[in-house]
Amino acid sequence: MNLLIDNIGELVTNVAGTGEGGPLGIRRKAALLVEDGQVAWLGPARYAPAADRRIDAGGAAVLPGFVDSHAHLVFAGDRAAEFNARMAGERYTGGGIRTTVAATRAADDNTLRGTVGRLRAEALRQGTTTIEIKSGYGLSVVDEARSLRIAAEFTTETTFLGAHVVPAEYADRPDDYVGLVCGPMLRAALPYAKWIDVFCERGAFDADHARAILTVGQAAGLGVRVHANQLGPGPGVRLGVELGAASVDHCTHLDDADIEALASTVTTWVSEPESSTTVATLLPGAEFSTRSPYPDARRLLDAGVTVALATDCNPGSSYTSSMPFCVALAVREMRMTPAEAVWAATAGGARALRRDDIGVLRPGARADLSILDAPSYLHLAYRPGVPLISQVLHNGVPACQP
Ligand SMILES: [Zn+2]
Repeated sequence: MNLLIDNIGELVTNVAGTGEGGPLGIRRKAALLVEDGQVAWLGPARYAPAADRRIDAGGAAVLPGFVDSHAHLVFAGDRAAEFNARMAGERYTGGGIRTTVAATRAADDNTLRGTVGRLRAEALRQGTTTIEIKSGYGLSVVDEARSLRIAAEFTTETTFLGAHVVPAEYADRPDDYVGLVCGPMLRAALPYAKWIDVFCERGAFDADHARAILTVGQAAGLGVRVHANQLGPGPGVRLGVELGAASVDHCTHLDDADIEALASTVTTWVSEPESSTTVATLLPGAEFSTRSPYPDARRLLDAGVTVALATDCNPGSSYTSSMPFCVALAVREMRMTPAEAVWAATAGGARALRRDDIGVLRPGARADLSILDAPSYLHLAYRPGVPLISQVLHNGVPACQP
């Protein structure tokens, strides 16, 4: 059983050097054949092969599914009141994380599973075909392990974030908490986690603690990611680069040395994800929701740094699952071009997860894609807030239709 998507007006492939649009590799009047969950063929519509099933894209744009490489979906409760207070002038400090930790610990497995499932479905409807999911609201051995076990039911991209904040019961002995994270908590998390992450920030974990946690996680076989330089300048970005992190996330407060360190990881071979590149993942939903200055994407891009966009979906500082919203923010508020933003939300996210089978449409890649209710990817930024994702294919299967 194969499936032909025919009559595509604008096909964004992210295969650089083919078609128009530089890195976006845009083909016009195209068709794409899906077989066994993968892209089997793509090319001019007039050469399209016969197929068992056909979807007429009606001249609309088709692009790779969004890769949301940073999301915190395992939690209970919400923090609408905190958002309301912030919009009335209070400052975001990250302290509200402990509110969510208390609610998450009190919730049963099915409540947590229900929330992850609802948010995963919400993201899929908006074109997200791959999502990374972090733990980090359990902060005990049992609650971190069960957060990851539930996350693993929804994605293979699971991240152990036991070092999100120091929980209240360890407030006066953070060294003991780091010992717990590096020992029993890591061991309990390992069967369910692919990545390890630390919130390296004033008020969370300093460079020494972050290095200790990430190093022991890496030695246990986990890939490294870092929450870095969100609330102020700090050591997180350079620590991530030093440890060969796949991604450093937030990157709102960077100095020249941070940017040079990130740029130095980029190799010139750009057609495959380079295993040594540390991606700068920007999360503009967080700046939007905390009314904070946005990261300087232009400075990163001009220095040659590989940039990804992700939602940071979480109940405190960025309660959105919408990659199109992040694309629109990146264009309007961070001076990224629409092409840069769409690349960062697809191929960039794939690189932040060190994957070469997603975020791209070429024979052999996963058939993860969105058909837009628009003639061009430009409309994702040009028509903000409008539901433009009309059909999504996930692993070659139509995931949701209007
Ligand atoms: Zn985050």
